[in-house]
Amino acid sequence: MENIDRKAFSSALARAFSQNGMGGLLTMEKSEKFYRLTLRMLEENEKYNLTAIKEPEKIVLDHYADCASLVAHLPKKAKILDVGCGAGFPSLVLAVLRDDLDILAVDSTAKRVEYVKETAELLGLDNVRTLVARAEDLGRDAEHREKYDFVTARAVAELPILAELCLPLVRVGGAFLAMKGKNAAFELAAAKRAIPMLGGKPGKVIPTPLKSPSGGEEAHALIVIEKGAKTPAAYPRAYAQIS
Ligand code: SAM
Repeated sequence: MENIDRKAFSSALARAFSQNGMGGLLTMEKSEKFYRLTLRMLEENEKYNLTAIKEPEKIVLDHYADCASLVAHLPKKAKILDVGCGAGFPSLVLAVLRDDLDILAVDSTAKRVEYVKETAELLGLDNVRTLVARAEDLGRDAEHREKYDFVTARAVAELPILAELCLPLVRVGGAFLAMKGKNAAFELAAAKRAIPMLGGKPGKVIPTPLKSPSGGEEAHALIVIEKGAKTPAAYPRAYAQIS
């Protein structure tokens, strides 16, 4: 059983959020959910291989505050598909912070999806559902193709590949939100040809620098690609072809 001091945890969480201009997102109830999420993630880490970050002070910053930067871009009741959710990032964080969102967390690895499903149940997050699937298969499935207001992805693939996995799932008028690091502008430039072929409008990079309590700052960024037109039937292709 992991032992994390509850008070120290909630202070570190509050600090990570307020330092990044998101203090208003937290309540005592949400802070408690993040505490329970952290205990569970660290307890199950060995079994499911969930996170390389094991210190609670880093988890609150690099996982929770990082994923929380999406909240400002999501209107009320948005329908979201999180591609390659892994241990539930950003899906579980969004589910804790916004009970109005309708979230489908998808990953090709069954074990991680099982973890996310059980964790959502344990925390009473009934706004998140899970599915074991490959994004490119869902993109060819009428039940999911062009059915989501927003598709999110963090640390899944380079943008030229990721755009073909994610844009087919976004409805026209919705957007694909890719959480990226300091190379965001280069990745967007590399995907310049692919994006319009998939129905995307020219993307933009929104800097979302992540400030740490020590005064450091990491260059995180959100790439926002709005869906302007339907994705042609030829896409997405099989993964081997995309890559
Ligand atoms: N998004 C999480 C995060 O930020 O911590 C997990 C990132 S992990 C490095 C990448 C995840 O993407 C893995 O769990 C992997 O199984 C999943 N993945 C990779 N390609 C995928 C695909 N084509 N469809 C669905 N999931 C995929």
